[in-house]
Amino acid sequence: MARRKKIYEGKAKILYEGPEPGTIVQYFKDDATAFNAEKKDVIEGKGVLNNRLSEFFMSGLNQIGVPTHFIKRLNMREQLVRSCEIIPLEIIVRNYAAGSMSKRLGIDEGTQLPRPIVEYCYKNDELGDPLVTEEHIAAFGWASQQDMDDIVSLALRVNDFLSGIMMAVGIRLVDFKIEIGRFYEGDFVRLIVADEISPDSCRLWDIETGRKLDKDVFRRDLGSLTDAYTEVATRLGVMPKNAGQFTKPTLIN
Ligand code: UDP
Repeated sequence: MARRKKIYEGKAKILYEGPEPGTIVQYFKDDATAFNAEKKDVIEGKGVLNNRLSEFFMSGLNQIGVPTHFIKRLNMREQLVRSCEIIPLEIIVRNYAAGSMSKRLGIDEGTQLPRPIVEYCYKNDELGDPLVTEEHIAAFGWASQQDMDDIVSLALRVNDFLSGIMMAVGIRLVDFKIEIGRFYEGDFVRLIVADEISPDSCRLWDIETGRKLDKDVFRRDLGSLTDAYTEVATRLGVMPKNAGQFTKPTLIN
């Protein structure tokens, strides 16, 4: 097989040049990192699960008219996506207090917020992705005010969509992070949801028991990350019920 050109390697994914101009192959690794890569491990099967789950969420978003970079899944670990220019912001939407918000504001984890809150962090590993305001974003030219308005409405649509499908399978969407890209279509620029949507980038709690089904299992040493992600995939119907008993997850096509 011809060697592909690697464009970028991040903590959890590798991007390769796609088969056609304007496309990229996104490969999901098994590597797990937390606390700005201070904690690292390889979790067998995580990449397969996240590839499948991100496909599920992104294709659902495409179907309800929220544009994303997702084109199609290619195999167990790879998906074809549209090439776009990533805005250097992490867009966080919170429905319940947890993680850094609980710490920063002294609110107990799990407290329901009066309404969904959208936060921006500047994507910069050296600085530990600091929280920034719209003032910083406009002043430093990372996005225009119009972009930010569009980003907030996209983020809230993603929140409603994800909250609904999670609620239907007994899971609470506590918070999540998305990234947004600029996609050039002739003379037009569109903002699209990019990167990934998976339990690596969401907080997901079982509604009945409060069991964590997301990357906090790894961050806080709460057990098997693959079991947690397999549980999410099984409930959403993207994995067979018995998949958890195998080391390597089996996909339903
Ligand atoms: N998140 C992420 N990548 C990051 C930072 C946060 O995917 O680099 C997600 C995280 O999984 C959670 C949400 O964004 O679902 C809010 O994270 P928080 O700010 O509470 O940070 P943390 O406590 O994870 O450091």
